[in-house]
Amino acid sequence: MSDEPRTMTLAIIKPDAFGSGKAGAVLSTLEDAGFRIRGSRVVHLSDAAAGAFYAVHHERPFFGSLVEFMTSGPCMPLALEHERAVPYLREVIGATDPAEAEPGTVRALYAESKERNAIHASDSDENARVELGFFFGNVDLIAGR
Ligand code: ATP
Ligand code: MG
Repeated sequence: MSDEPRTMTLAIIKPDAFGSGKAGAVLSTLEDAGFRIRGSRVVHLSDAAAGAFYAVHHERPFFGSLVEFMTSGPCMPLALEHERAVPYLREVIGATDPAEAEPGTVRALYAESKERNAIHASDSDENARVELGFFFGNVDLIAGR
């Protein structure tokens, strides 16, 4: 066992992958990569919830389309644990645009396009804390045992 701390990050299996029946395959890919699933739920986000989750992108030209996509069907938020969970999950999911994602990454395997890209992952420990709270704030999640 390495001495690196085990931490948690937030993933979302997005409506494209969830709606086309790929949730199981994505979960297998994440488990095969070594992640432990410490929380999961299925939610169909409202406009307000998706807009709040992606508030940092409010001024971006794709914001309206992103909210429309994220509210188009159910999605599956996940609390995932691993050593250095945040940067490691970013590696495992691959680049935002699946055309640029490394072979074998979740997006290379399952994403349709730069927008419909199968999975979200927190991009910093601070954002992971906020995003885990967004979806699992009423649950006291345990990591590391
Ligand atoms: P995420 O935050 O979902 O993990 P990311 O960090 O790789 O993805 P961001 O730059 O945070 O990418 O963008 C958030 C999401 O907005 C992307 O995952 C994608 O669904 C969508 N998106 C990003 N850039 C574009 C774009 N140029 N055109 C359309 N959609 C985009
Ligand atoms: Mg992001």
